[in-house]
Amino acid sequence: MVQKLEGHHARKRFGQNFLNDPHWIGKIVDSIDPQPEQVLIEIGPGQAALTREIIAKSGHETAIEIDRDLAAWLRSIFPETLELIEADALKLDWSKVHPGEKLRIFGNLPYNISSPLLISLIAVRGRVTDQHFMLQKEVVDRMVSAPGGKTYGRLSAVLQRYYRMMKLFDVPPGAFTPAPKVTSSVVRMIPIAREETSPEEDAAYSEVVAASFSMRRKTLRNSLGKLLTAEEIESAGINPGVRAETLSVSDFESLTRVYLAKRA
Ligand code: SAM
Repeated sequence: MVQKLEGHHARKRFGQNFLNDPHWIGKIVDSIDPQPEQVLIEIGPGQAALTREIIAKSGHETAIEIDRDLAAWLRSIFPETLELIEADALKLDWSKVHPGEKLRIFGNLPYNISSPLLISLIAVRGRVTDQHFMLQKEVVDRMVSAPGGKTYGRLSAVLQRYYRMMKLFDVPPGAFTPAPKVTSSVVRMIPIAREETSPEEDAAYSEVVAASFSMRRKTLRNSLGKLLTAEEIESAGINPGVRAETLSVSDFESLTRVYLAKRA
């Protein structure tokens, strides 16, 4: 059994499902393989299931926890080895977190904020070595899906522009207390070394992807109509008669270039 904060009731609004199975905790920590010289950042340490093992291997950790009671408890049990930031990870100013250092970010994320959190981390990717997250299996399947795949969609096309992603393994509901209704998966995300893109380009890319997927089963001519005409879509080398599900990251980048040129 794993040591816990006595009397703490899992808070639904914070997406609290605590890992309590040493087998799965060990498997996740082995996948992260923390080393003493690294800056390890955990999002949502909760009752320290991962935190304890990471600190045992690396000697230190920085964690971001929104729950005030858990934050106070975590500070009390790791007074020397844990730097606890009591904050909403979605609103965190990452420039203040170990400025100038490379970060390894990980966590068993609250499922209600996982997509916006993954999107917000894109802005920090230049400083990130890798990310390991446990998420709802369905979300991980979407993240790693290839164009044409059943689960390929907006999240896939946005994240695949910035990260190489691998699903590592599934974790059953019984590994948590309380048990969630769905299976979870652990995913590794490694930022792709590529030319710097401007925030403007990033925003335009997201806009093009969002519009393309806004109407499921419709062709680009219809779904992208508000941003680009059929001729403009063709000028990007894309057939306006196809659906968004078939387009790769580089196809969306071609459309983005035409869209940016049109707006300029
Ligand atoms: N890591 C622990 C484990 O594996 O047992 C807890 C995982 S639990 C699914 C999610 C954790 O994230 C909880 O501790 C919760 O309080 C925290 N959390 C929820 N929303 C958060 C947010 N916006 N920012 C930071 N932490 C958050």
